Amino acid sequence: MKSGIQPTLINDPFGDPGLLVQFLLEKRVLLFDLGDLSAVSNGTLLKVSHVFVSHTHIDHFIGFDRLLRTLFGRDKTLTIFGPENIIENVKGKLAGFTWNLVELYSESLTIEVVEVRENSLLKGSFRAIDKFKICDEIEEPFVDGLIVDNPVFSVRAAILEHRVPCLGFALEEKPHININKDKLEEMKAEHGPWLNELKQSVSRGEQDSSLIKVPFQESGNFRIEDIPLGDLKIELVEIFPGQKIGYVVDTVFNDRNRKKIVELVESADVFFCESPFLANEEERGQARYHLTSRQAGTLAKEAGVKQLQVFHFSSRHKDCREQFYNEAQEAFQG
Ligand SMILES: [Zn+2]
Ligand SMILES: [Zn+2]
Repeated sequence: MKSGIQPTLINDPFGDPGLLVQFLLEKRVLLFDLGDLSAVSNGTLLKVSHVFVSHTHIDHFIGFDRLLRTLFGRDKTLTIFGPENIIENVKGKLAGFTWNLVELYSESLTIEVVEVRENSLLKGSFRAIDKFKICDEIEEPFVDGLIVDNPVFSVRAAILEHRVPCLGFALEEKPHININKDKLEEMKAEHGPWLNELKQSVSRGEQDSSLIKVPFQESGNFRIEDIPLGDLKIELVEIFPGQKIGYVVDTVFNDRNRKKIVELVESADVFFCESPFLANEEERGQARYHLTSRQAGTLAKEAGVKQLQVFHFSSRHKDCREQFYNEAQEAFQG
C-alpha cells in the first residue's frame, strides 16, 4: 500500500467540477466542490466528513441539496468550508425548506460552516434539531492558510480571484505508520496495546535509544523485554509518506494568483487544475476569469507537481478533449 487516499474526479471533465477523496484506512470521504453529485452513491455521501467549496457559482454548489437530502436524519456532523458569504449561502439553502417535523427525528444532523476570509475564519453551526437556526458563531484567526489540521490530514486554502473570491485547496495526508504483521509473527512477540505505543513513539520522533517494553509468550511463560525503538523501527515498522493533492478551479491567470497557486500546490503528487479554455483563448480566459490549458500546465510546472490532471473544460469544446490534455501536458513538461 503506497498511499491511504484515493482522489477521483466526480464527473467527466465537461461535467460539473468536483473531486472526491476516499480514505482507504477509515470510513471517510472528502468532497471538493458540490456540483452535480448524481454520480456519487448515497453510501459514499454518508461517509463525507468535510466539504471544501471553492465558491458558490451554481456548477460548484448545486449539489448541496443532494448531500443534505442524504445526510438529513442522521446523527452526524458535516463541516463545510467556503469563501466569503458561504454562511449566508448555506443559510439561504436551508431556509428554502420547511423544518416543522424535525422533532420527530431522534438523530440530528449538524452542519458547521467555516467562512475563509483574508485574516480570519468565521464559523457558524446549523443543527437540524433546532430547525437549522444559526448558532455558535465565532471568529478565529486564519494563519498560514491552514483550515484543517488533524492526525490524519491537513488542508490549506488560498483566496484566489475569480471576480468573486474563490478558494484553491491543498490536501496533505499525514504519513502513516504500519506494523508489518509477518515480521511481528517471526519475532514471536505478542499483539497488544504496546504496538500502538510503538507507533506513537515513532510519530512523536522519539530517540532510537528509548526502550519499548515488548511482551513475549513462550511455552506458557510470559516475559517482557526492553527493546530499543531503533531496532523495532528496522524490524517491524513501515512508514508511508502521505500524498499531497492540489485543487484549483475558476480563477484568472495573473501575477497574484500565480504566486498563490504555486505556493499552495508546490510539489503536490497530483494537481487537479481547471482548464475551461484552449491555449489560443487567453483573452477569453482573462475576460471570464478562467485559466487556459497552457496556463494550467505552466502553473503545474512552476509548482513542481508530479502529476497534472486538467478538467472543467468548456462545453463549447466538446470535440477538443485531447487538445486540452495535450496543450496542458506540453506546457507542463516542456
Ligand atoms: Zn466553474
Ligand atoms: Zn465560477
